[in-house]
Amino acid sequence: MNVLVTGGAGYIGSHVLKVLTAHGHSCVAYDNLGNGHAEAVGKAPLIRADLADGDALATVMRDHKIDLVVHLAGFIEAGESVVAPGKYFRNNTIIGMTLLEAMRTAAVQRLVFSSTAAVYGEPERIPIREDDRLDPINPYGSSKLCVEFMLRAYARAYGLGCVALRYFNVAGAAPDGEIGEDHNPETHLIPLVLQVPLGVREKVMIFGDDYDTPDGTCIRDYIHVMDLADAHRLAAEAIEPGTVKVFNLGNGEGFSVRQIIATCRTVTGRPIPAEPAPRRPGDPPRLVASAEKAMTQLGWRPNYCRISTIVQHAWNWHQTHPHGYTKA
Ligand code: UDP
Repeated sequence: MNVLVTGGAGYIGSHVLKVLTAHGHSCVAYDNLGNGHAEAVGKAPLIRADLADGDALATVMRDHKIDLVVHLAGFIEAGESVVAPGKYFRNNTIIGMTLLEAMRTAAVQRLVFSSTAAVYGEPERIPIREDDRLDPINPYGSSKLCVEFMLRAYARAYGLGCVALRYFNVAGAAPDGEIGEDHNPETHLIPLVLQVPLGVREKVMIFGDDYDTPDGTCIRDYIHVMDLADAHRLAAEAIEPGTVKVFNLGNGEGFSVRQIIATCRTVTGRPIPAEPAPRRPGDPPRLVASAEKAMTQLGWRPNYCRISTIVQHAWNWHQTHPHGYTKA
């Protein structure tokens, strides 16, 4: 298939490009490089443009005879979304609609949408299943849930076929060391913890150690970025016209912030000082997926379930790229 990957120069986008290309799809990356890196795109053509321009977007879809859009571009920080909600609704929700309209103009009928575990808010039960209550506690989750609702409306009205993937905590790097995670500024736990042994920061802050969890710190379900990327390939094949299918993507196992720091100490063999700090707004105490539906319906089988492997692959990449991608 001819695939347009929005956010293709980003962390997840670059890994999705790698997997789709390896499976014979012809991919085009669409990215304004606001947060992405041209170097991460590999051999796929990169169109440096903004998604806000729906006409330009539709033209690209037509010119490249796009069959499928994988929409990954967006802002992703729950904590930031609490203090800057407009940024999230504009960039994630309104641009989501611009994209859907451009797809309609260009008669592109297939979409894989990157959603998030944040749509659940504080879950009623663990592990979380796809039909559990949707009640986001931060604007990031709300901005993505709004798009999920739009997808249903577009599927019903225009026959759009869509899969929405609700990611839990994505981490790790390509095992071949070619691409990895480089956010600026970095806000995600595993790369931040690894900055200590890299000598980039002195210590890591633990955002809240008084949660109702066994060690008082937040619990998350970490999924390897290559396993996540592979689910996009399977999702693309599972799309049916006029339907929206929703899948959680996680490993079904929760790790606390303290457990992640301990794993990073073991993998790197270095001491990593950590200090409690206030809670970060918008953080649910515990998020763990049931990905049973993705396994049974998509045939998804994660290859890198062990948290030590996920951290090891991240560590391998960061050691060879201590300051991330080389800046142009
Ligand atoms: N976290 C932390 N210190 C940091 C960064 C993150 O304690 O320097 C915590 C954060 O509060 C959350 C967990 O680590 O409970 C995972 O955060 P991350 O930003 O990686 O992903 P999120 O769960 O927000 O998608």
